[in-house]
Amino acid sequence: MTAGGQPDPARARELEGRLRAVRARISSAAGTAGRGEPELIVVTKYFPASDVRTLAGLGVTDVGENRDQEAAAKAADLQDLGLNWHFIGQLQTNKARSVVRYAHSVHSVDRLPLVTALGKAVGVEQERRAGAGLGPREDLRCFLQVTLDAGADPAQARSGRGGALPADVPALAEACAATEGLRLAGVMAVAPLGASPAEAFERLLHVSAAVRAVDPAAAAISAGMSGDLEEAVAAGATHLRIGSDVLGPRPAVG
Ligand SMILES: *Cc1c(COP(=O)(O)O)cnc(C)c1O
Repeated sequence: MTAGGQPDPARARELEGRLRAVRARISSAAGTAGRGEPELIVVTKYFPASDVRTLAGLGVTDVGENRDQEAAAKAADLQDLGLNWHFIGQLQTNKARSVVRYAHSVHSVDRLPLVTALGKAVGVEQERRAGAGLGPREDLRCFLQVTLDAGADPAQARSGRGGALPADVPALAEACAATEGLRLAGVMAVAPLGASPAEAFERLLHVSAAVRAVDPAAAAISAGMSGDLEEAVAAGATHLRIGSDVLGPRPAVG
């Protein structure tokens, strides 16, 4: 048996039920909106590797994490599962080397120095892999995180949860598209607290159009969490990041 411990049958049943309910909500929202179903990324932050293993057994292929240390440990434990790891948290440039060792995507690319650091880190990782006799990794898919706080004042937006101002996104997109080892995927946002998610996601669509003007293939829209997945699907999200409605309330951070 691998790290992550023995599967707990009661927990497995709970996860199965919750996952089924979330998938039903996604199908229903996609049906109502007349859209294809977006990809589900299950956000497993703070939950043990054993839960991630159970979810993989239930058909989950993509998981999201927001802290490098935790993500790196789980990805190492669960290497045999071939999961796609999505990094969704604020990322310091000095963590880029670690993140590119396991991440398929980074959803929190929000400033030029981070683009540079990730590009360099992928280069270093390719050398490491070649030296270890491993094949190259795929290009790192980059989602540009946008702040959707209405009328965000730049100083405030930058001190908040992360995310570039919409006006700064085209330059970020250009930089990402021009960086070897990175693939511009699209945009990402978290709906602001206390505002209408539908309106916020509408603003995100405009930013997405600006990114597609840089690269028409960069059409991904990562939006929608447990509380607003229906609004995100209606607005055209291609990737949903769902945590608590699949895993239950997050344990307190120790
Ligand atoms: C935690 C987190 C999620 C998942 O949130 P839930 O409300 O638990 O579904 C999605 N996106 C980001 C960026 C997160 O940090």
